[in-house]
Amino acid sequence: MAVREGSGGTDFDAIVVGAGFSGLYMLYKLREAGFTTRVLESGGGVGGTWYWNRYPGARCDVESVDYSYSFSPELEQEWTWSERYSAQPEILAYLEHVADRFELRRDIQFDTKVSSARFDEDTNCWNVTTEHGESLTARFCIMATGCLSAPKLPEIEGVETFARATYHTGHWPHEPVDFSGLRVGIIGTGSSAIQSIPHIARQAAHLTVFQRTPNFSVPAWNHPLEPDYVQEVKSDYPARRELCRTSQAGFPTGTVEEAASSVSAEARRRRYEEKGAEGGLRFLGSFTDLLVDPDANETAAEFIRSKIREIVKDPETAAALCPRDYPAGTKRLCVDIDYYETYNRPNVTLVDLRSNPIERITEDSVVTAQGTHELDALVFATGFDAMTGALSQIDIEGLGGRTLKEKWKDGPRAHLGLTAAGFPNLFMITGPGSPSVLSNMVVSIEQHVDWVTQCMAYMRAEGLERIEPQPDAEDEWVELVSALADFTLFPRANSWYRGANVEGKAQVFMPYVGGVYTYRQQCDEVAQSGYKGFSIS
Ligand code: FAD
Ligand code: NAP
Repeated sequence: MAVREGSGGTDFDAIVVGAGFSGLYMLYKLREAGFTTRVLESGGGVGGTWYWNRYPGARCDVESVDYSYSFSPELEQEWTWSERYSAQPEILAYLEHVADRFELRRDIQFDTKVSSARFDEDTNCWNVTTEHGESLTARFCIMATGCLSAPKLPEIEGVETFARATYHTGHWPHEPVDFSGLRVGIIGTGSSAIQSIPHIARQAAHLTVFQRTPNFSVPAWNHPLEPDYVQEVKSDYPARRELCRTSQAGFPTGTVEEAASSVSAEARRRRYEEKGAEGGLRFLGSFTDLLVDPDANETAAEFIRSKIREIVKDPETAAALCPRDYPAGTKRLCVDIDYYETYNRPNVTLVDLRSNPIERITEDSVVTAQGTHELDALVFATGFDAMTGALSQIDIEGLGGRTLKEKWKDGPRAHLGLTAAGFPNLFMITGPGSPSVLSNMVVSIEQHVDWVTQCMAYMRAEGLERIEPQPDAEDEWVELVSALADFTLFPRANSWYRGANVEGKAQVFMPYVGGVYTYRQQCDEVAQSGYKGFSIS
């Protein structure tokens, strides 16, 4: 680095890792606040999730008018979403537009994977190293590395040996993939699979779906957005955004005050029909007790199952598609377009791995207990090492040479889900212990970025060099996150929310379930108190 641009003799005031929704807004805010910043991004462009997940059918499950930045009224007015739930190319185009409009690219270094970050206790600075061997220093390091950015292959014997075309939904090629005339297999039935299966089935000669655990899915009822509706949203955006920020999940759900257990079966069914007709994740807001009372939850679960049985003509396939061993919504509720309808197609076969498990993958087949499925292409829709995966791929070393990986070996510990004791001047955007994946993530991202920028500006104004959470404040937060989760049904599912999808990963429920508004208030109180629970020097 020829010119050192950071105020403390460092290359930069801040290094940000990642250029998705989080990293882009972080750069915008830091620049606005006068901090010199360099963003390092392993991909070849901006967009994060929306850069990597180019599989057919990829789209958001939070409505686009809400799944977008609120920080710029001009941006809000000039960008027009074409659909209720926009598809990946449109969301990527939006993030590219943001990067161009705010001239962000000049501070982003693409094709640059960060391999390590070491805190220097003498200078109170981070030394960040890239895979190319480049080394940069900064007072602050901000990990905007994403919760769902470390794709995961299944632990199946021979998985690396399949010699024909393979794809992972989370690392999809940039050039179009044509499945026409091919026998395609897909492993997994989470959100990514549920979105891509109808598209692949329409193209392929035959599609075999390998399902281990069926998921609960509700229809999106996606549609183009009418100009009048768009205008209505745009004319009232500040109020709508405020509603998102003060809600539970970061998007407007309407107010519900009744518990499912307090109304008749007939009234319940009516409400589920109404909420189902609204489309998408709002279904879970049908009643107040769905995620805390197992009996109430079972009524919603049974409603979804009844819809599956109505749609899927073959009773055996319908039965296999009905989830039974965890409460609805405790794995991310899927939002689909024609997912269950796809099983009525003659060229689609469901293989229920519970009764017919995969034994191994060979160079041309998936071999199950009951037979061999020869395939021309195999799609892994097998998810991510979520919430901690991208961070644990970086060798992050804090005080006393202790790594974050060591600190987190029994589960992640982070104060407010933003900072970790022993790792001064390091921030995580939507880290474990924050609402992140249980919310409209753009709302959570903006709140984190604002908080971090405010904290850095405070330190600069006070002439401070180093901030880190106190271990007892962190312990209290981790206990709170766990106690809140235990109050709900969430821990009852073997979900990626608690690391259950990665062999050997500590089983700890990671997201904060208290909602984005309560969480924001807690973070604000900490800032207003002069960073109570933090050591600052
Ligand atoms: P990401 O978008 O994941 O960006 C992180 C970036 O960091 C990536 O570009 C990655 O390459 C980079 N990076 C990571 N490690 C390194 C490293 N070591 N060195 C350099 N760069 C690195 N959320 C919602 O709220 N609503 C939705 O509808 C929704 N839909 C989704 C659909 C899919 C298919 C997926 C996978 C996730 C979805 N999510 C959704 C969650 C989504 O991840 C977030 O909404 C949001 O895009 C996260 O932005 P981010 O910038 O925090 O992380
Ligand atoms: P996922 O929800 O973790 O689903 C992975 C699927 O792969 C599961 O069905 C899992 O089965 C299966 N699987 C994993 N290992 C397997 C093995 N060894 N054998 C057989 N099956 C195996 O991953 P995802 O679908 O990519 O979604 C991850 C998250 O990203 C979502 O929960 C959501 O938050 C986000 N997302 C959102 C959207 C959207 O609608 N906007 C779309 C895609 C993703 P088990 O359940 O049995 O482990």
